[in-house]
Amino acid sequence: NKLRVGLLFGGRSGEHEVSISSARAIAQALLSGSNQQKYELLPFYIQKDGRWLPGDIAQQVLASGTPLQLDESNAQLPSDNSTSLPIPTSFCLPVSSASSPSQVADVDVWFPILHGPNGEDGTVQGLLQLMQVPYVGSGVLGSAMGMDKIAMKMAFAQAGLPQVKYMAINRAQVWSNPCVFPKLCDQIEATLGYPCFVKPANLGSSVGIAKVRSRSELEAALDNAASYDRRLIVEAGVVARELECAVLGNDNPKASVVGEITFESDFYDYETKYTAGRAALSIPASVPESVAAAIQEMSLQAFAAVDAAGLARVDFFYVEATGEILINEINTLPGFTATSMYPQMWEKSGVPFTELVDHLIQLALERHR
Ligand code: ATP
Ligand code: MG
Ligand code: MG
Ligand code: MG
Repeated sequence: NKLRVGLLFGGRSGEHEVSISSARAIAQALLSGSNQQKYELLPFYIQKDGRWLPGDIAQQVLASGTPLQLDESNAQLPSDNSTSLPIPTSFCLPVSSASSPSQVADVDVWFPILHGPNGEDGTVQGLLQLMQVPYVGSGVLGSAMGMDKIAMKMAFAQAGLPQVKYMAINRAQVWSNPCVFPKLCDQIEATLGYPCFVKPANLGSSVGIAKVRSRSELEAALDNAASYDRRLIVEAGVVARELECAVLGNDNPKASVVGEITFESDFYDYETKYTAGRAALSIPASVPESVAAAIQEMSLQAFAAVDAAGLARVDFFYVEATGEILINEINTLPGFTATSMYPQMWEKSGVPFTELVDHLIQLALERHR
């Protein structure tokens, strides 16, 4: 009797395309080696408008690797108003062309591989929790804490983890009051100086992030970041090497070897992350053993500080001149394509991709028991 794995991908997020790539790699791993005998794949594609599409349509998106256009899926679905609802009622909708449509109720364990808001942030995890079916990765609290950079940094500070100086800001300070805004900018300049990084608090893949060097750039970046999120963060810029570490486990998690990302661009922005050849990964990173050990230790502390589970990738700044190691962030559903940092770091730590996927599903079952 195979365990039916509900692979949940796509999602109502700016990282929709990345999620499709991650899901393709995981789907392939479920159909490889010994996983083939253990698991049956039930894909569920969450469209950009939030609708869940199971069966053939989801398979089709996995096979093509490209998002479904909203009008395309309308043509393929029965004309039922309930299809426009983002949650439960659309779950069990049989897709007309599928011979035996997969349904939400058939799933034994969920593997949500959604990046960013509405997927990595605890929202979907809350839904899966209510369904009382095990799911891969962090729960509601860990996901939400890991997604919100302000909450995350508060938890890191509490755990004594060193990080860059930052200011938490809300959208109202940027948009509502024309007298407040210049004072806010003055304060940022006085506290953090230039260059600084302006970020929406709840996002990923560097979407909405700007490195700013002047008052006019700061004003524009705050306005732009406020269009993505109510909560914003501004951080002092550091000149540093970028190191990452992968964590795997529940209450007794393990840290992988440390990896490094190098690139030519000004910072690790969206284009650099997703254009082939723009960034190079070196695993293990060539850093002193003591630096790697400190990063592994800090990664486990960060994992515990936000109450993560299953998996997480922890990102660091390493200021080589001073030896300083600063934690940047944790990602509770990191990129999971065959060439992504998270699975690559485990591969180099002795856990191949197919085994990693198996391990994550077993961790989900363990947590549910
Ligand atoms: P991910 O895709 O890893 O989830 P993200 O969208 O959460 O990324 P960050 O990791 O916070 O964004 O920042 C993206 C990149 O911007 C970093 O990898 C780094 O290159 C640069 N960066 C961010 N903050 C700083 C900082 N304070 N100083 C220097 N560089 C920074
Ligand atoms: Mg992130
Ligand atoms: Mg992320
Ligand atoms: Mg990052």
